[in-house]
Parts: sequence; structure tokens; C-alpha cells
Amino acid sequence: MPELRQNFMTKEWVVIATERAKRPDQMVVKRERKPPVSFSPNCPFCPGNEKMTPPEILRVPNGETWKARVVPNKFAALSRDAKPDRTFHRSRRSVNGFGVHDVIIETPDHAGVMALMPDSYVAEILRIYKTRYEELSLDPRIAHITIFKNHGADAGTSLEHPHSQLIATPVISHQVRERFQHALRHYDDFGECMYCQMIEEEVDEKTRVIMMSEHFVAMELYASPAPFSTHIYPRRHMASFGDVSAAEIIDLSHMLRTVLAKLYHGLQNPDFNFTIRSAPAESVGVKYFHWYVSIIPRLTRVAGFELGSGMFINTVLPEAAAEFLRHVEAEEAVAAAK
Ligand SMILES: [Zn+2]
Ligand SMILES: [Zn+2]
Repeated sequence: MPELRQNFMTKEWVVIATERAKRPDQMVVKRERKPPVSFSPNCPFCPGNEKMTPPEILRVPNGETWKARVVPNKFAALSRDAKPDRTFHRSRRSVNGFGVHDVIIETPDHAGVMALMPDSYVAEILRIYKTRYEELSLDPRIAHITIFKNHGADAGTSLEHPHSQLIATPVISHQVRERFQHALRHYDDFGECMYCQMIEEEVDEKTRVIMMSEHFVAMELYASPAPFSTHIYPRRHMASFGDVSAAEIIDLSHMLRTVLAKLYHGLQNPDFNFTIRSAPAESVGVKYFHWYVSIIPRLTRVAGFELGSGMFINTVLPEAAAEFLRHVEAEEAVAAAK
């Protein structure tokens, strides 16, 4: 029987379509990929082409060259120079297009893949995220910061060179505000963080857990909106990504890299997005919200039903996806790609 499941945290409903259920390995999307090249002469993110980007904000040096760089997005969605002035005219309200749009160039290697990098390199990238997150959180004009990575055309990448992005906005989206309010209401009613409660239950039950470490746990959600959509949660309560400690970053780098390697190997290098969902800047340290990493492989397309109803259809049982990913050898993936 198909089943409708509700996401405990967002209250969103998902159709788990077991009638149409596919085996996890049937979800592989075959893609034509160009053979990887380590250097592309016209790529603005390749070493030697530094002048093609706006002036650097931050760099992780490697002798004369670099391991990673942060630059403003040349085609930024928002502008750093505007003042976030609001205007109201009857039913129409707007804010000047102020915002910060960073690009994090993850490696000088044009063909680099995060799933196959050493953990220490991924830790370096996470440290950059944290540095920029902290700097921007202090800016009074910033209300919310989103860190994300797009991998592959179906995930919206326009540039091949491995990079992630950060967008800081002067307003908080309705979706983020809603999630926040659900979490606050739950805290008021039950006196605990709903994410902490869910994590404890999932760790107990284990069927949807992919892997666990000292500080983090990776799992499929009970009401997972898309096949193999995977969340990584810190096991101690933390509202904001900015609260993550140095030791936790090292632990997270291993888990994030391993989950990406399991997807890479198990689903043949799928396109994916990941985002860090953290409390808005004004809410650092609150007891009711819990930050996490959300990884969504792009294996299916959103269609009319999803757009019209706000409900997703997932054709892979979250428990089957977790079981499948638990058994993919991540280290084998790394070795095979070398
Ligand atoms: Zn490049
Ligand atoms: Zn919590």
C-alpha cells in the first residue's frame, strides 16, 4: 500500500509510492560526462586565471599558490553595495537588492570531486564556510545565510570547476520562518528541541540511519521528500552552524565526504545539491532549532502534482535507501576513481 508520511519538523506530507517503488539501484540516472581535465584554459576558477574573478576575499595558501579561494560571485544574485532599505506601497513591499554572494573555489583541480578528496581537504572547505558564516553573522544588515553546493547540470551548476556558494540576505524566507515557528511551538509545548527528539528516536530505531560518529549522524528522513535525500545532524544540540567546534568540523568532514562517496559510488556520480540549514543570524544559541546538512541527489524531477499540492512523491522507501547506502563501500569508491 502507498503511504502518506508527515515530516515531524516541517509538517509537510510526502507520498511514499510503494506501488511504483523502485529498487535503489534502479534510480541511477545515466549521464554523459565529459572526461575530466585538471585544467581548463577558459575557466575563471582554474589557477593562473585569478584575474578573471573579482578580487579575492579569502585564500587558503599553498606556498605561492592556493588550496582554496573565496571570491565575490561575478554574477551575484544580490549586491553588496546596496543598503537594505525597505519600501511599502499598498500591497507591494520590497527591499533594495542588498546581499552577499560568495563563491568558494574548493580546489585548484578543475576535475576535483568532493566525494573523492581527502577528509582533511573537506575539513578545510568546512572551515572556510564557518569563517565566512561567522563574519557575515556579525553584519547587522544580514538576516539569513545559506551555504550550498550544486553538483551537475540537473543541480543547477553552470561552471564545472568544483565550488560552493554562500548567499546572505537581508530578509528571512517564509519557509525558514515557518520551520522556525514549528520548532518554537514544539519547544513551548514539550520543553525540548524537536530535532533532538527525532534524532534520539532515529538513533534508537536505526532503520533509517546510514552512519554515526562521535558527533554526527547521517540518516534518511522518515518522510523523505526525494529518493536518497540524506540529512546529517550534529548529535549535540546546536542551533547555528557557527557553533560547530574544531573537533566537530574534523568529524563532519569525514562523514560528509563518506556520504558523498557512497552516493558517488552507489548511484554513479549523481547530480546533487547540498545545503547547510542553520538558524537565522538573529537566533544564535536558541534551544529550539537544530542545524543540519541536507543532501539531495537529483534523480527525479518535480512536476505538476508537487507544484500544485506542495506534496512530494518519493518512489524509494527511505528505509530501503538507508539500507542500500549503509552497504556501499565508500573507500572503494575513492580507490576506483583513482
Ligand atoms: Zn577550472
Ligand atoms: Zn536540538
